[in-house]
Amino acid sequence: QDIPVDGHKRVLLAAPRGYCAGVDRAVVAVEKALEQYGAPVYVRKQIVHNRHVVTELEQAGAVFVDEVDDVPEGAHIVFSAHGIAPAVRDAAAARGLRAIDATCPLVTKVHREAVRFARDDYEILLIGHAGHEEVEGTAGEAPDRITVVNSPDEADTVQVRDPSRLVWLSQTTLSVDETMETVNRLRARFPELHDPPTDDICYATQNRQTAIKEVARDADLVIVVGSVNSSNSVRLVEVARQAGAAAAHRVDYADEIRQEWLTGVGTIGVTSGASVPEVLVREVLDDLAAAGYRDVAQVSTAEEDIVFALPRQVRDAAPEAH
Ligand code: SF4
Repeated sequence: QDIPVDGHKRVLLAAPRGYCAGVDRAVVAVEKALEQYGAPVYVRKQIVHNRHVVTELEQAGAVFVDEVDDVPEGAHIVFSAHGIAPAVRDAAAARGLRAIDATCPLVTKVHREAVRFARDDYEILLIGHAGHEEVEGTAGEAPDRITVVNSPDEADTVQVRDPSRLVWLSQTTLSVDETMETVNRLRARFPELHDPPTDDICYATQNRQTAIKEVARDADLVIVVGSVNSSNSVRLVEVARQAGAAAAHRVDYADEIRQEWLTGVGTIGVTSGASVPEVLVREVLDDLAAAGYRDVAQVSTAEEDIVFALPRQVRDAAPEAH
């Protein structure tokens, strides 16, 4: 990338960035549960993968647990945006827990696809990161029929029972390009591989990747605000590098930006993952302004207006508008 000869320092701010509809819904669900039922409200796993959000909700009275066994019988429990395996739902019911399901509807859609294809006697190759909560939840819908494919390389070695009844599905927050590479390599081995009926990688993941690609082309450095366990945030760093950013780093907070990253840098691209509140981006912009990067231009590649209805248990009592 060219560093402007006049030493001009600027920021290109990617849009869309930050909160998606599924994260917004999940965070509001916990807030509403606290309002309606009082603290403590238990939440299985991090409600969304962002340190700041989790810390704020903890301060408001949310208690994050790893498993439903850690919750007192009869208490309220919120299931996180990443979804749960049916076995978790059953375990919560067996403990008499009152469940509020904040699973993103776009994750639920993938669960339904898994159930349907398993019922129709398909073997499912689930492209995604083994161990990620969403993948564990989706795989739990049909454990005997789902094999997780972690990477394009694994596409070359995965074993299947019957290549003529095979479908791929994916985690919602992957790199679009890398997923297509995995699919192409799977299809080279299994030409009859079926595609999912609609995109599993969600609109928010896709839009944030498209925007950062546009920004990264002109950036000497890209800063992605997001937590280390946030799949879509980590993907944004990779996508920025692949799209031509000379360097790309992820930070949870503005104070993690290192002085040496800025040496010789003219244009800085900034974006944030789907679980990141805008206040954290503002703090990054303030720190960059203090370092001389006061010229901020937004690069917008899509408009988003998707909103999901809250989980039934925390909807306001007033009748909803239709
Ligand atoms: Fe839902 Fe996509 Fe947001 Fe995940 S990133 S919560 S799938 S909208």
